[in-house]
Amino acid sequence: MSVKKIFLAVFLLISFLNWSQNKKFKVVLDAGHGGKDYGATYHGNIEKNIALKTALKVGEILKNEHDIEVVYTRNTDVFVELDERANIANKSKGHLFISMHCNANPNQAAAGNETYVMGITKSASNLEVAKKENAVVTLESNYKVKYDGFDPKKPESVIGISILQEENLQQSIEIAGKVQQAFTKFTPNKSRGVKQAGFLVLRKIAMPRILIEMGFVSNKNEGAFLNSEEGQLKLAQAIATAIVNYKKDYFHSESNLPKKQEVSKEEDKKDTPKKEDDKANVTSSSKEDIFFKIQISASAKKIETVPTNFKGLKSISVQKEKSIYKYFYGQTSDYKKAKQLLEEAKAKGYTSSFIVAIQNGKQISIKDAIK
Ligand SMILES: [Zn+2]
Repeated sequence: MSVKKIFLAVFLLISFLNWSQNKKFKVVLDAGHGGKDYGATYHGNIEKNIALKTALKVGEILKNEHDIEVVYTRNTDVFVELDERANIANKSKGHLFISMHCNANPNQAAAGNETYVMGITKSASNLEVAKKENAVVTLESNYKVKYDGFDPKKPESVIGISILQEENLQQSIEIAGKVQQAFTKFTPNKSRGVKQAGFLVLRKIAMPRILIEMGFVSNKNEGAFLNSEEGQLKLAQAIATAIVNYKKDYFHSESNLPKKQEVSKEEDKKDTPKKEDDKANVTSSSKEDIFFKIQISASAKKIETVPTNFKGLKSISVQKEKSIYKYFYGQTSDYKKAKQLLEEAKAKGYTSSFIVAIQNGKQISIKDAIK
């Protein structure tokens, strides 16, 4: 063979390998906690072990699917930082990110499974779950710097990381719904539904992403189920089935993939238009999830959100929509307070300011918000 022909053969082989790689649906399985981080521990049921064993079982089952590739953020008992989990997922160019955890509650009667998508919540119980899972960052050095001043004890921190996290929401809700459906089919446990809250581990994931609370280790019966081979197998069958069904619905060929997002700064992320029924099946949506902000200006230019740039106004936030940056003043769930904020903005010279209402990260009409 001539050198030219060898080159051609190698080129064709590489192209083929690339092509066959691209045809595969890649799911990233993220077993929560690990190593020095045990997660929730009750009655000898240890979250990190249950999460890992179940994740490995999901991977085993998915080996039967020739067009699904599994990527693990950990497949042994090691500590992996939250941002590193996101790095692994994003570098692998996964199509789906599944974080697996166990719930716990001092009220040991609490039982059932639930699946979370990223979003704003003021539901106290959702916040508690997010706070508990996010608290693992305190085991990382320098976490306040790495996670933008994040304080796991403050609800504002949980709400803060949920803002501007709309990407891939619809697909995330789809896979979350399929997981909950499959849990009902494969396990005897109670379904607590699909919920929204802000999870640090999900915030930088650039693909549809969910966090599953597979059950309560604090509940004697459910904890024993979670800790058993049989229980883990049922949970794994349910999760694997949901993944396979999701792949059937959303992954036919590379050109037909759910739109993937580039990893970038929050403000630079593109706004994807959403259908009205986006969140129809999110059970936790309620009046409390609505809040108001004052839109004071919009600009093609990105301006640093410091008071000196906004006539002395503090708590300015920015959101990029298409090629426009929108600037907002304040945030409140109280419409009366929002009117006051509007007056303050006008008094500062932003005479054309107006109130916007946001529910689960999406703008809604004021009329709907104050209904
Ligand atoms: Zn956990």
